[in-house]
Amino acid sequence: TVPVITLDGPSASGKGSVASLVASRLGFHYLDSGSLYRLVALLALRRGVALDDAAALASLALTLPVRFTGGRIVAEGDDVSDALRAEEVGNGASKVGALPEVRAALLERQRAFAVEPGLVTDGRDMGSVVFPDAALKVFLTADAAVRADRRYKQLIGKGESANLAQITQDIIERDARDAARAVAPLRQEPDAMLLDTSAMTIDEAVDQVAQWYAS
Ligand code: C5P
Repeated sequence: TVPVITLDGPSASGKGSVASLVASRLGFHYLDSGSLYRLVALLALRRGVALDDAAALASLALTLPVRFTGGRIVAEGDDVSDALRAEEVGNGASKVGALPEVRAALLERQRAFAVEPGLVTDGRDMGSVVFPDAALKVFLTADAAVRADRRYKQLIGKGESANLAQITQDIIERDARDAARAVAPLRQEPDAMLLDTSAMTIDEAVDQVAQWYAS
């Protein structure tokens, strides 16, 4: 079987950076599952599909016109990598992700990424629902204040305007929605290793995951 490493955790916990670095270190494929939920939200926003229209969103999810090439995400011939990172799209993703129909529509598409020599993937339910037999499951988290501060610095670094209080509030609301939903709620699986990165650098977190995988 193909080895899979899952990193689940709340928003802005750094799991995406850690997961993609672990993937390059091991020479594994990398799947940012949140990008699929973000893509459904982005296309819905662009096409005027309501974010609670489960049937329309599920058919959008089933037919997502997406390609992952060289670290970029291309939808309908358009590089949407940057558009996907917008806060509005992240919040929309959290809304469409609460719909069981959308989650079901994305399931097989996610599993298809598990090919030789292996896969590192991050999200909310990668260890619980999508890859329950993963070789290593990590629950990666950090204090909400630390996560808000990281997201804030990231936006400022990109030359965008950002409001720390607003970001903190968005993060707390998104976590609450992701943890409270009926399907695939965000929580630490009993067999997942807990990695609290509040006081860690990205490199230290990558080292820890690689060490767990090797042992
Ligand atoms: O990780 P990211 O911030 O890109 O995820 C955006 C939203 O997509 C999350 O807030 C969550 O609601 C949803 N999501 C999910 N399951 C995943 C990945 C993301 O429900 N595996």
